[in-house]
Amino acid sequence: MHYVSTRATSASAARNPQQFSDILLGGLAPDGGLYLPAEYPQVTGAELDAWRKLSYAELAYEILRKFATDIPDADLKALTARTYTPEVYRNARADESSADITPLRVLEDGAQGKLVLQALSNGPTLAFKDMAMQLLGNLFEYALARNNDELNIFGATSGDTGSAAEYAMRGKRGVRVFMLSPHKKMSAFQTAQMFSLQDPNIFNIAVEGVFDDCQDLVKAVSNDLEFKARQKIGTVNSINWARVVAQVVYYFRGYLAATTANSQKVSFTVPSGNFGNICAGHIARMMGLPIDKLVAATNENDVLDEFFRTGVYRVRKPAETFHTSSPSMDISKASNFERFVYELVGRDAERTHALFRKVDTHGGFDLSGAPGSDGDEFKDVAKFGFLSGRSTHADRLATIRDVADDYGITIDTHTADGIKVAREHLQPGVPMIVLETALAAKFNETILEALGQDAERPAGFEDIESLPQRFVVMPADVVRMKAYIAEHTGL
Ligand SMILES: *Cc1c(COP(=O)(O)O)cnc(C)c1O
Repeated sequence: MHYVSTRATSASAARNPQQFSDILLGGLAPDGGLYLPAEYPQVTGAELDAWRKLSYAELAYEILRKFATDIPDADLKALTARTYTPEVYRNARADESSADITPLRVLEDGAQGKLVLQALSNGPTLAFKDMAMQLLGNLFEYALARNNDELNIFGATSGDTGSAAEYAMRGKRGVRVFMLSPHKKMSAFQTAQMFSLQDPNIFNIAVEGVFDDCQDLVKAVSNDLEFKARQKIGTVNSINWARVVAQVVYYFRGYLAATTANSQKVSFTVPSGNFGNICAGHIARMMGLPIDKLVAATNENDVLDEFFRTGVYRVRKPAETFHTSSPSMDISKASNFERFVYELVGRDAERTHALFRKVDTHGGFDLSGAPGSDGDEFKDVAKFGFLSGRSTHADRLATIRDVADDYGITIDTHTADGIKVAREHLQPGVPMIVLETALAAKFNETILEALGQDAERPAGFEDIESLPQRFVVMPADVVRMKAYIAEHTGL
């Protein structure tokens, strides 16, 4: 299995074939594109039949071995077995089974269609990012040991990604994490989750500033290529290919759990921001999984909904990017979207490159086919099954209340956006699976507003705010930041 960049000419791709392990530790391709397999591996009906009986870990192994062809089977099997355990994904609801890893729950099964929730948030940080990040931690440790190398992950977070990365990398040999967050700007719960980690390879740096100051520091340090190389600095952002491919697994799992025969189809609704999660659904569909529709649910930051309704991709300026009560979807552009656009324009890398150059110079592109537009490929979007919808703070509150009243469970704000939009796309005969991307306890402020009472906390999180915290406070100063990193890596 070889990987190509969405911007590579065929000549450069042929000169420079990349395997899974070559792109594992990286982000963007050198030409600025994103990596994709040269072609998608296909699944057969016989495979799907056999996979119905597998545990989550076994299924993950079967799917990953189609992509990670340069990792020996026995090693991959051990890595997936170690990652997808009931102990790691232990925060299932009391009436659901942790052994299922991503348990399904039928919410309604009426004349309008069947609405199902797939829980992806039972990992250590109570959000779906653990599904991929936990595997990444084990893959990184494995790859670094194989090359006798080390890696220093340097990133900025306003919440979910940073904590998922820290819980995945804690205690891993060869890896350190330096995570910047805006001092005193995260919720008490999120701060406690990250800062209570005592592992010596985790460095929490509270920056005196806002999230943008943290991101600017990461950019400034990463742009110093000599420093970056010497300090072996890497990232684990949402464009990382291994993260995307790990997410493909739960689409198969959801399909197999919701059906009894391969002639049946399902649809998925995915609370979306950077398009990483739903991109994995798109890949599962391209592999032949019988997915009917893939519905992108956005919040008020509706870049993706606008594209899937009109064919116009228009990134937002900072002043047009709203802080919402589903904050993990507060994005101004969708960093994985290029992976789908490449497909949509017929895997034409030159075209893809030109379109995303236009994003940089003109803030977007238009594939609606209207006079003066950049193309008419929007007409082909339906072939890929994509639909969309948008949800607001008021919708979120109403949906959290409805779901509590009707089904007796509390859902988080991002999942509420998913359910709101899913209900608009129900179809009799095709189960609609909504991906639950976080647990309510993480976003308690809004739960309190919606229900007048606190969200339930999973066992072990009751008192997290009172645990001792380990972090340093630093000004937004690049020189001090570099000195801190160098001091702690010893490189
Ligand atoms: C990251 C995140 C999302 C958005 O996922 P993308 O892959 O960026 O589209 C949605 N909900 C939660 C809770 C998240 O943490």
